[in-house]
Amino acid sequence: MTLTTTMNAALAPIQPTWAAPATVMALVTTRRGGVSKPPFDSFNLALHVKDNCADVDSNRALLQRLLGDNIHLQWLEQVHGTQIVHAERGAGECRGDAVFIDTPGVAGVVLTADCLPVFFAARDGRSVAVAHAGWRGLADGILERTLACFSVPASEVIAWMGPAIGPCHFEVGAEVREIFLSSTEDEQLRVRIDAEGFRPATDAGKYLADLYALARLKLLAAGVSSVSGGEWCTYCDVSRFYSYRRDGVTGRMASVIGLRP
Ligand SMILES: [Zn+2]
Repeated sequence: MTLTTTMNAALAPIQPTWAAPATVMALVTTRRGGVSKPPFDSFNLALHVKDNCADVDSNRALLQRLLGDNIHLQWLEQVHGTQIVHAERGAGECRGDAVFIDTPGVAGVVLTADCLPVFFAARDGRSVAVAHAGWRGLADGILERTLACFSVPASEVIAWMGPAIGPCHFEVGAEVREIFLSSTEDEQLRVRIDAEGFRPATDAGKYLADLYALARLKLLAAGVSSVSGGEWCTYCDVSRFYSYRRDGVTGRMASVIGLRP
């Protein structure tokens, strides 16, 4: 068994099931197979969550070996904004909430623990992107802005949604629904956002928001031809996922997409 096969078994990353071209490499890590101690156990890849830095560095080295040493990883300082970083070989951490990649041998990383990671790939295999979509970024247009980076039309881009907090656990205040409803001029889309993105919670004035439905609606409205994935709840699946809402102090999973060297 090769080293990578052994690591792959221990880390058990999620491989997106989508029709991405052969030039594209993409995976989402789970919390399994790393060296961090509780409550960050064990494959935490975030430095800003007060985990032991040496453990995070070891985990990042594991991720690098899993992907291959010839892949340059573009890390982000995420701020729940809509800034897109155009990844370049050799660049250090940049502030932003999405990475666009059109250079072979380069990959972008988004860290999440409830927020929605979204992968994008051009059907021609020449460019990819990953976006960090919390409810704020989603309402502010992070997905539409990421799509706008591609030189091909949206109809030539496919998307895949990674693990996020599900509609079973993502309770929000009425103001979040209002922000989404006022985020579009398109009346048809507004009606669908209300019907498919929110349902009343048990607590009066609260809603259960569906990040997957909201992202899917926005991507399809923007012209993306295919949207897949979105079948997890980070809050429900304690053994595989970190969840900020569930645990507060916890680690982050990495969603990584790039172009093969
Ligand atoms: Zn859940």
